[in-house]
Amino acid sequence: MSDTAELESVDAFAARARSWLAGNMPRAADGLGGYNPVQRNDEAELAHIARCRELQRMLFDGGFAGICVPTAYGGLGLTAAHQSAFNREIRGYEYPADTQIPTFTPCMAVILEFGTEEQKRRHVPPILKGDAFWMQFLSEPSGGSDVAGAQTTAVKDGDEWVLNGSKIWTTGAWWADWGLCLVRTNWDVPKHRGLTVFMVEIHQPGIEIHRIEMLNGSREFCQEFLTDVRVPDSQRIGEEGQGWTVGTRWLYHERTISGGSPYVTSPAGRPAVALDPGGGSAALIPLARARGLLHDAHARELIGESHALGLVGNALTDHIAEEIRSGAASEQAAAITRLWFGVSAVRNSTISFELAGPTAVAWSQDEREIGRKGIRFLMRQTSCLAGGTTEMSRNAISERVLGMPRERTVDKDTPFRDIPRSRPAGSS
Ligand SMILES: Cc1cc2nc3c(=O)[nH]c(=O)nc-3n(C[C@H](O)[C@H](O)[C@H](O)COP(=O)(O)OP(=O)(O)OC[C@H]3O[C@@H](n4cnc5c(N)ncnc54)[C@H](O)[C@@H]3O)c2cc1C
Repeated sequence: MSDTAELESVDAFAARARSWLAGNMPRAADGLGGYNPVQRNDEAELAHIARCRELQRMLFDGGFAGICVPTAYGGLGLTAAHQSAFNREIRGYEYPADTQIPTFTPCMAVILEFGTEEQKRRHVPPILKGDAFWMQFLSEPSGGSDVAGAQTTAVKDGDEWVLNGSKIWTTGAWWADWGLCLVRTNWDVPKHRGLTVFMVEIHQPGIEIHRIEMLNGSREFCQEFLTDVRVPDSQRIGEEGQGWTVGTRWLYHERTISGGSPYVTSPAGRPAVALDPGGGSAALIPLARARGLLHDAHARELIGESHALGLVGNALTDHIAEEIRSGAASEQAAAITRLWFGVSAVRNSTISFELAGPTAVAWSQDEREIGRKGIRFLMRQTSCLAGGTTEMSRNAISERVLGMPRERTVDKDTPFRDIPRSRPAGSS
């Protein structure tokens, strides 16, 4: 990963980071560093994103952005160990939470792996400076788990491609700049062979963005309708028809959102993805105190359980990341951390809900903080869906890590056009 002859030692880098952070980065007022900003109205959401851009720029100007990104594209060309050290040092400081996922990983990671030299030089520096936010255009109304079943279509027209179809569940598409978009460019070959990936500017004629309201009131989710969207061939990532090769690595990087990505700046011990429904054991102590339960045996047991989940999660993430880096485990092992993050986040959210008691169901104005635990409880399942479901992780673990028999597929050798499928909702 490094692109310099002599690397600064991890200890020296950590000491330099510690001193720079102390002198330059604001302390996190809430102890969360701008993390888990669910339930924001549009104005607050845009202010948060603007703040993330600012914080990312501060990291860049201070020489701490893109720690594992090659220097040719504006990064530091250091190692995953340097990134981990920085993540330990940044605990307690504000950090650009929403810049990390999905912009740095999986989107930038995919561009670094499959982009041409020109694409990398054009797109990576603005990401590191906080000037460009990227989103994933993967899921479609027909289903998100079967990624290779994408029906959004691109047809070649001279030096351009014309895209039509719909993507859905795109977090933050309404304010983001670019989308990495998986589309079908050939319907006459089996499904995995007819895919291609493009970089698409989100705000352009032909892309209509609809906001989707979730039950917590957040409207960060979007559905995009693409009608005759023209994309130059120079914005194709990877070879035409090789979208699944790109997609496989894309999904790998997506799984690392639960931890272990060398591209993510996020305080150690906190999953990079802004979804943690409970806030971890540290958030439970003030909650128990507010409810007068600090000395209650059952409450203490719940806090202990949550703390143990955090410790196991950190150890597991570090272990799996190291196994993958050293080649001792295949990259598919990232599904283990992803699964752990999903189920432990659900359990944490249930623990918070239990500790919050009746206030989590009905709260007064000054009990809003506790009341949020109820909303987070209702939203808890999102951690088992985002970044690929925990069921799909279980499939990956059983088939690709443990070597158990593969799920039977009936569409592997059939041209995609001939695979029976239901009509998209709303079509006649
Ligand atoms: C908070 C959040 C953020 C998200 N952000 C994005 C984003 O930015 N971009 C994006 O493209 N998508 C995004 N998604 C969508 C997410 O990737 C999909 O929800 C997920 O992949 C599942 O797809 P689906 O909801 O269409 O469910 P489906 O694929 O329809 O699956 C329905 C159910 O069947 C199960 N299932 C399906 N196939 C199998 C199988 N082979 N074996 C076992 N079980 C199976 C699934 O696990 C699931 O429980 C986000 C989702 C959430 C919750």
